[in-house]
Amino acid sequence: MVRSLMDVERIYGHIEHLSIHIGPRPKGSEGDKKAANYIHSYFESLGLKVWKQELEVDSVSLNNHKVEIIEPLLDEIPSYPILSSPNTPEAGLSGELMLVEGSKEPQLGPNVEDKIVLWSCTSRSSFKWETLLGYHPRAILAIWPSRGIKPKHYFSYDSLGASDPVPSFWITWEDGLRLLKAGVKKVRLYLRREWYKDTSCNIIAELKGNRYPDKIIVIGGHYDSVPDVPGATDNASGAAMVMELARVYAQRGSMRTLRFVAFAGEEGGLFGSTQYVKELSAQQGDKAHKIQPAKHLFYVNLDTLGTVLGFNSCYIAGPSEVKAVVEALSRELGVPHQIKEAINGSDNLPFTWGGIPNIALVRKGPVLESIHTEEDTVDLIDINQLKQIGKFIDTFLTRTAARAEVWPFERRIPEKLAKEAGDIRQRLDSKRRS
Ligand SMILES: [Zn+2]
Repeated sequence: MVRSLMDVERIYGHIEHLSIHIGPRPKGSEGDKKAANYIHSYFESLGLKVWKQELEVDSVSLNNHKVEIIEPLLDEIPSYPILSSPNTPEAGLSGELMLVEGSKEPQLGPNVEDKIVLWSCTSRSSFKWETLLGYHPRAILAIWPSRGIKPKHYFSYDSLGASDPVPSFWITWEDGLRLLKAGVKKVRLYLRREWYKDTSCNIIAELKGNRYPDKIIVIGGHYDSVPDVPGATDNASGAAMVMELARVYAQRGSMRTLRFVAFAGEEGGLFGSTQYVKELSAQQGDKAHKIQPAKHLFYVNLDTLGTVLGFNSCYIAGPSEVKAVVEALSRELGVPHQIKEAINGSDNLPFTWGGIPNIALVRKGPVLESIHTEEDTVDLIDINQLKQIGKFIDTFLTRTAARAEVWPFERRIPEKLAKEAGDIRQRLDSKRRS
């Protein structure tokens, strides 16, 4: 048995610091810089070799967003804009409100043209944005499909974006009902947001392997949050776990080199991890650099850990032996995992693109509804769950990276997953170009 040195109180303390004392940390923001400095000085205090990897990110500033009820004249209601949708004119965009239920004819058809659509669907996946946009509404107010929950901050309509967007907002279920009950006929909308290039940085701490220093295992989690959101579970929890693992291994040592990386700008673009893998690839064949992708054996992604009332899941992109090890370890430690050999869209994706096998640990369940909302606060974290998953990761790393005489996994990603990941990359690239 591996004796764990992990201290769950420290992990919790980092989560509190990142999500409460610093608060929202959208990429490129002041909060983002404070979080980067906090993690950087913590890594330095452990005596590890630490460096920053600067990178460019697409940032957005939300200057104004409002939904005003103008007929009958009432006040305004809170709105949650979809950030990839276009701005309204500065003076706002007003129009006639029209209720549409569902995404199918005849409720949804040419009659919506030039209307501001108040849109209700039974679940998030039943909002077919492309279909509605095809009928050219003037703007969209989509009613969040669950009661009692604030809508999520979304960068885009869905993972693919939409082709002909109009100013679009989520409003709460309760406000949707309020508009209907008041018989609202006209609204005026304001959306003024601005995209710009900004910088952020990955924070990297390295512990040199005492036997195989050229063999590198990366343990990472992003430290940014979406705008206005404390991001305690997504992903102060993962970043805090990376920090604690760095402390533990700085004491314990490792046969192989361990790199602890707090990734920048995962939300809305996987900017940090993409840059990390891109630089590795650029260094291939460049003899001046010692770190080449071939030396990167494995990646462990930590995103959203330790939440209450859920279940652990593990996404694997690697040879079948990885699955066998994760399964056996889950059983041995009594930390059950739902295990999938599938793609997960967090910072592990660029590693899959780079041909580096990886696992992504993520805790799922009902609290996922709170992610990317203002309700993603530290009270969603359960100390005992943190302890369990901490023990799991620590044991996995100790037995494979830190202490195994022979590294147990081939450096291979199944063809099917590599292709799936490649397709996602193509879609993302074409979206970025458009
Ligand atoms: Zn995340």
